[in-house]
Amino acid sequence: MSQATLSDPELLARLVAFDSTSDRSNRPIAEFIRDYLDRPGARVEALDSPDGTKVNLVVHVGPEVDETSRAGLTLSGHLDVVPAGEPDWQSDPFTLTETDAGYVGRGACDMKGFDAIAVNLAAELAGRRLRHPLVLILTYDEEVGTIGAHHFARSWPKERPLPRATIVGEPTTLKVVRMHKGHTDLRLRLHGVAAHSGYPHLGKSAIEPAGRAIVALSELRRALEQEPCPNREHFPEVPYVALNVGTVHGGSAINVVPEYCELGIGLRVLPGMSAEPLVERLRQTLAEALGDEPFELVLDHDSPPLYTPEDDELYRHLCTLLQQHATAGVSYATDAGWFQTMGLRCLIFGPGDIAVAHKPNEIMPKDEYRRGGAIFRRLAERCCG
Ligand SMILES: [Zn+2]
Repeated sequence: MSQATLSDPELLARLVAFDSTSDRSNRPIAEFIRDYLDRPGARVEALDSPDGTKVNLVVHVGPEVDETSRAGLTLSGHLDVVPAGEPDWQSDPFTLTETDAGYVGRGACDMKGFDAIAVNLAAELAGRRLRHPLVLILTYDEEVGTIGAHHFARSWPKERPLPRATIVGEPTTLKVVRMHKGHTDLRLRLHGVAAHSGYPHLGKSAIEPAGRAIVALSELRRALEQEPCPNREHFPEVPYVALNVGTVHGGSAINVVPEYCELGIGLRVLPGMSAEPLVERLRQTLAEALGDEPFELVLDHDSPPLYTPEDDELYRHLCTLLQQHATAGVSYATDAGWFQTMGLRCLIFGPGDIAVAHKPNEIMPKDEYRRGGAIFRRLAERCCG
């Protein structure tokens, strides 16, 4: 059945209405997009996550990808959103609400606003004869560690190349970004022996060694802040590897000797660096601080940094179009780090401001949204038309 095409804000409203928080399945929103793109000229594939609860969607419009030139355009966005439980929401987060300033709702900015533009672009181009293909990659679980993109990069068949020029439409207030930091999530697990706190000699605290670990990690954090890193000139605010002890969970009650404590640790490496040696250094630091205390250090998720050279053709074109002169890096990780490992040339570029993402009353400014839609249509015309 051929579908009517909605305007970008109308489609955005439909996407926002799906509660696709990362701890839920994204199948309902993926099904909706699949139905919406059920029209001649568009091919939609749903690729199951390893546990079968979620999907990456791949949309293909136009001719097959030429293996040599890999011409065309790949656009990518994530379908999941962060939780919307904050009490400060002034409207229902899953009902897109229009105000004078813009469109408000969970994901309006990060990043269903872009998703709606990309899906509509596929719908608009589906009926046309294109010179080169347009491909969309819509991922699951970006917000909890670029898990869907990692799975996609691991499992997409090498014999099916994708258009090399790639834009990940995370909110950048329509500034083109060619590099970002990575993010590595680690868990430190410490085990003790539970006991009634009146008889502490029968137990062993898991929290006390965690305290020593925290002190050692904060010293490592300060040391890292002094060390020069590649590409640091592009990250003037934080020109070093950032280390964060983000969570501490341990103990069950005040009158119980705690048998378990876990620290969540994040590392953000700069483009041109690998997380591996830093993880090893962190392990050494912990081994020294903890002495003969046994511990587990587990790598939870890894999102590689992104680096696209300045002479990239699409980057140059966008800079000219936007009259942008300075290269700026961003300090958050995106799916692009994984796509780069597949040989895609990635840029980060999208409407909306990352500063309002992950917050109550997340907003997409109207003018910027309209401008963003127009720029992506021009780009698609240039790369595929
Ligand atoms: Zn995002």
